[in-house]
Amino acid sequence: MPERTPLLAANWKMHKTVAEAAQFVDALLPRIAATEHDVVICPSFLALREVVERSRGSAVRVAAQNMHEAEEGAFTGEVSATMLVEAEVDAVILGHSERRQLFGETDEALARKVPAALAADLEPILCVGETEEARDGGQTEAVLERQLRADLAGVEPTRLAEVTIAYEPVWAIGTGRTATPEQAQEAIAFIRDVLREAGAEADRARIIYGGSVKPGNAAELMAQEDIDGALVGGASLDPADFAAIVEAAG
Ligand code: PEP
Repeated sequence: MPERTPLLAANWKMHKTVAEAAQFVDALLPRIAATEHDVVICPSFLALREVVERSRGSAVRVAAQNMHEAEEGAFTGEVSATMLVEAEVDAVILGHSERRQLFGETDEALARKVPAALAADLEPILCVGETEEARDGGQTEAVLERQLRADLAGVEPTRLAEVTIAYEPVWAIGTGRTATPEQAQEAIAFIRDVLREAGAEADRARIIYGGSVKPGNAAELMAQEDIDGALVGGASLDPADFAAIVEAAG
């Protein structure tokens, strides 16, 4: 089975000014100097360049939190893959549940965004996950399969493993409720099966967990066979906490 490099991503959402981002990077880098994992910081668009410049030569890679699928055009307020690549950004979060719920991000748009990111050589970090209602109704696998099939419909099977999937149960995001390691492992193993059925080299695909990951629960989650890292919101705002999560990945 191919080795998968763990990926730990800090999703800052709409937190941190440019000055605060700079302080964070300066505090984080000495704490993760020995890591061999992929450490990804996802700041606001405005702080992308600061994080790129300040983390040069380190394990840190930089991701945007969203992008538009078109090259350019009359899309007020949007940013394209080309613009992100010019800013030396490496990756982009797509389909975060906050974008789906609060900003109307659709599976149809994601089916265009994921291939657009790949075409520009940006690593897509595609978020999928069920609501509490869906979980309680026994619909978790149906929701995950529907989102994956829809959002990845435009990706050639040979490139599917280049997409990092973040399993983020909506009920665990920002709520302090974490999926148990067993729940997360079960859902992520299912996601790997869906990718395999879609023709992906699924053992190579990175699938990470997100939802109230903290220093205290990270090791147990990431010890699970199929969990290849974490997408961290709240606990990623503090450099010591985020560094502890990076360390917990082994
Ligand atoms: C997220 O924003 O993707 C997330 C998982 O947030 P939190 O860690 O705060 O639950």
